[in-house]
Amino acid sequence: MPHRTSLPESASMPQLHLLPPLPYDYAALEPVIDERTLRLHHQSHHAGHVRALNSLLEGQPQLQGRSALWLLLNLDKVPRALRAAVRHHAGGHVNHSFYWSGMAPRGPSARLDGPLADAVARAFGSIEGLRLEFGMAVRKLFGPGWAWLARDSGGSGALRVLTTEQHLNPAMHAHVPLLAFDCWEHAHYLRYENRRLEALEAWWSIVNWPEVALRFALTWRPRAADARGLPARGSRPGSRVAETRTEA
Ligand code: MN
Repeated sequence: MPHRTSLPESASMPQLHLLPPLPYDYAALEPVIDERTLRLHHQSHHAGHVRALNSLLEGQPQLQGRSALWLLLNLDKVPRALRAAVRHHAGGHVNHSFYWSGMAPRGPSARLDGPLADAVARAFGSIEGLRLEFGMAVRKLFGPGWAWLARDSGGSGALRVLTTEQHLNPAMHAHVPLLAFDCWEHAHYLRYENRRLEALEAWWSIVNWPEVALRFALTWRPRAADARGLPARGSRPGSRVAETRTEA
């Protein structure tokens, strides 16, 4: 989720968005994600979003105290001339931060169990059903974007697999994200070249299921802070979320 500065409040110093450190070493996700890709992805791609976002907010004191997620959910408060760029870079910052913490080095604790496992079974039949659904969604995403496991914050709380284009986020469409897969080529190209589905298949072994289960537990009901300012579904032409499944 959004990472905000921990710099002391000061009237003279605007709050800056900061690149969160990875919760593991650059080589820790080998062989699934190679060290060079992870380093470039974090230090170049993600850092670039943070830098650009800070630069965009220069001279916008009314926006400088806001989290990247708030910016993404309140784009109507962003000057029109900056809106597309803020959407891109705030989204890039939010999504990458979320992506890093949704992964962990392979280990014995990385199992899906508990209430989340039950919800996955209800929605997709099994973890294999979820993986199948996810793969189909990724296959149907033409161009850069993200694939998500998310839950509907509109009442049913149902689990869904979604994709978003560019750096859009399910929270912009009344869904609470639980798990993210980066479908941009930069996330896998060095090792997998154009074999994105192969990268996805390997990725399941480094999903941080305890973290996903925690996100699930915390979002059993949509939190008021996240729900505030959410646009009505489908109210943003050109930024629709592709839904591949609706849970009964
Ligand atoms: Mn990326």
